[in-house]
Amino acid sequence: MQKKYADIIVDISHEKLDRTFQYEIPGELSEQAVIGAAVEIPFGNGNRMIKGYIVGLSDKPEIEAYRIKKIADIKPEGVKVESQMIKLAGWIKENYGSTMNQALRTVVPMKEKVKAKEKRCIMLLADEEEAHRLKAQYEKKHSTAKLRLLEALIENKTISYETAARDLKVSATVIKAFETENIAEVISENVYRNPVRERDQDQYDIELNAEQKFVVEAIMDDYDKGIHKTCLIHGITGSGKTEVYMELIDRVLKKGKQAIVLIPEIALTYQTVMRFCQRFGNRVSIINSRLSKGEKYDQILRAERGEIDVIIGPRSALFTPFRNLGLIVIDEEHEATYKSETIPKYHARETAIKRAELAGATVVLGSATPSVDAYYRAQKGEYRLFEINARTNEAELPEVYTVDLREELKSGNRSILSRKLRELMEDRLRKKEQIILFINRRGYAGFVSCRSCGHVMKCPHCDVSLSEHRNGKLVCHYCGHEEPSVKKCPGCGSSYIGGFRAGTQQIEDVVKKEYPDARVLRMDMDTTREKDGHEKILSAFAEGKADVLVGTQMIVKGHDFPNVTLVGVLAADLSLHSNDYHAGERTFQLLTQAAGRAGRGGKAGEVVIQTYSPDNYSVTAAAKHDYASFYREEIAYRSLMGYPPVSNILAVLVSSKNNEKAAETAEYLKQMIIRDFAGERLRVIGPADESISRVNDFYKKVIYIKNEDYTLLTRVKDNLEKYADEGDLGREVYVHFDFNPMNS
Ligand code: ADP
Ligand code: ZN
Ligand code: ZN
Repeated sequence: MQKKYADIIVDISHEKLDRTFQYEIPGELSEQAVIGAAVEIPFGNGNRMIKGYIVGLSDKPEIEAYRIKKIADIKPEGVKVESQMIKLAGWIKENYGSTMNQALRTVVPMKEKVKAKEKRCIMLLADEEEAHRLKAQYEKKHSTAKLRLLEALIENKTISYETAARDLKVSATVIKAFETENIAEVISENVYRNPVRERDQDQYDIELNAEQKFVVEAIMDDYDKGIHKTCLIHGITGSGKTEVYMELIDRVLKKGKQAIVLIPEIALTYQTVMRFCQRFGNRVSIINSRLSKGEKYDQILRAERGEIDVIIGPRSALFTPFRNLGLIVIDEEHEATYKSETIPKYHARETAIKRAELAGATVVLGSATPSVDAYYRAQKGEYRLFEINARTNEAELPEVYTVDLREELKSGNRSILSRKLRELMEDRLRKKEQIILFINRRGYAGFVSCRSCGHVMKCPHCDVSLSEHRNGKLVCHYCGHEEPSVKKCPGCGSSYIGGFRAGTQQIEDVVKKEYPDARVLRMDMDTTREKDGHEKILSAFAEGKADVLVGTQMIVKGHDFPNVTLVGVLAADLSLHSNDYHAGERTFQLLTQAAGRAGRGGKAGEVVIQTYSPDNYSVTAAAKHDYASFYREEIAYRSLMGYPPVSNILAVLVSSKNNEKAAETAEYLKQMIIRDFAGERLRVIGPADESISRVNDFYKKVIYIKNEDYTLLTRVKDNLEKYADEGDLGREVYVHFDFNPMNS
């Protein structure tokens, strides 16, 4: 259905996003009037012709219809980056649920100025004689401020704006003059400085092996034919994926195109960054959380101006406004951080594929443990799958032992450390090799299990673990099912049933008590609160300042620890029984990553996995380093239960400070869905309390709607938005959407 009016922004420079102007769409232009289209409009009192972009369409005039001006022309500018980004925002709004404004703010970064205190001045004159000649000139002319600045730069090579102003009384104008005369250069304080000298760059001489070459040639063949099918590279850590990405980037750059590389913040280590700098020199820029908003915006401007061709960063780097985008790489594609936690709750993988489609670019995904979602699409032929098998550095995969904690208990060992783990720990402490003890609390939501037989209390309808609430009830967070807590195990009658309690602090205490001579470091939310706390602990451990590192999932990524030859996973069950259908997938990924920590430096590594569920396929497959068998089991479970990627889920989140009001609204919306979509075979589940059901004094209810057809779910969302828009729900209730939610 054609709309009559268009909302137009006249400048995509950001702070104006709040202000759109409504124009009438003349009949002859109605076909071309789509979101993202570039238009010419008469503007202001003089009706001067200016350019704008359509960001919304509607049928209702906002003011008296006769006062609304007409769009003069629509330009066929489909390839322009601004219009691509607006189209992308429209797609995000439609597919994830948000207002157009929220979507625009996500894809168009806010304009922010770099503050003076974040700026630094760097000496450009390498020649000392030249510097001293200049100094003599300033002395002669009595240019005292310039003289002070120059002397400081000769001595220290660099000075911050702040120090220059405070200690030298040198103003920004003086620094600016130095910049214009090419005496000094100004950069933002936290921006990554490329430490690689030009000269080192052409010494890049790694020759790809046959498998790597095959992947590169296959992708580039398609690329040259204009085929931009998404590719998934499955290869264990160290199999040479990063070398493949870099070769692909190199090829694409040579065609005058640009590349975006997404890497989860935690894996964005110095070593990784260095490798990209070494290869691409000053054409690369890095975005990370240490940059201020202004500094981030600065990098984006550099990309827009074409000063850089490669950007590396976490999720949001996806929206870098390159004008000739050729390639998007998403490393560690399975990471949950690629899904936005704020509205719009977009997934970077899907959004990257959409952006690439608009730009004519290729998306390359890589992982040692691909997400079930991506692997499923690859199996269906939606993505092109490449498997790399060789470990380029020849290191052996570690030996993995699975310890059955039920057996430990039977034979009288009640400690958190099993006999096998203890035996191996003693061996490593003697040999002065390092140990990592890992406890995964991510997604932990108070499940109840039996220490005798391993039975876990699960929801009879959803097959996910029930969570123990403070009121003693066991609750399912998908469907709201409740049952009373149990005193005796329904499986074996044992009274050893209850909530699972073990934390990093407790483990640290046990290790210190058992091995008083061992030096122990602990890494968790508590010990990493201070700035760079995370980095400090990891470097201390890497430098051999401790024998044992006890930590949560934070420790499984980042740094290489060549002296670690033993990894203990203390309770694989913690992630296995999180109350979410991703539990099995997360467990497999975490165990595989944890195992990958043992024996990187040429020494053979060993891994001990302790669990009450030694026969669970996530555990057995991880122990055998066998992704394929994990995937077979997992996808069977997902199709049986109607979980993504086989089906799709729309979570409707209802929140209010008033608990009754939230519950009432949720129930009302559920009835509306059932009524309005009566013929559609939707499965509507809930409402239930959301996992963390009271955040910031908001009560949260959730309804889950399952169907194979994603588009149908977007229609359900549109329909619910209508109820929210019409104000039927009252002021104090909020409704948000989450497609295929990832709770952990
Ligand atoms: P991944 O990204 O899969 O973890 P990397 O690309 O980082 O793997 O490769 C692991 C190590 O092996 C790196 O030090 C890398 O430089 C080296 N490497 C990768 N491919 C080759 C190759 N063809 N020849 C020599 N060294 C290689
Ligand atoms: Zn039991
Ligand atoms: Zn349930």
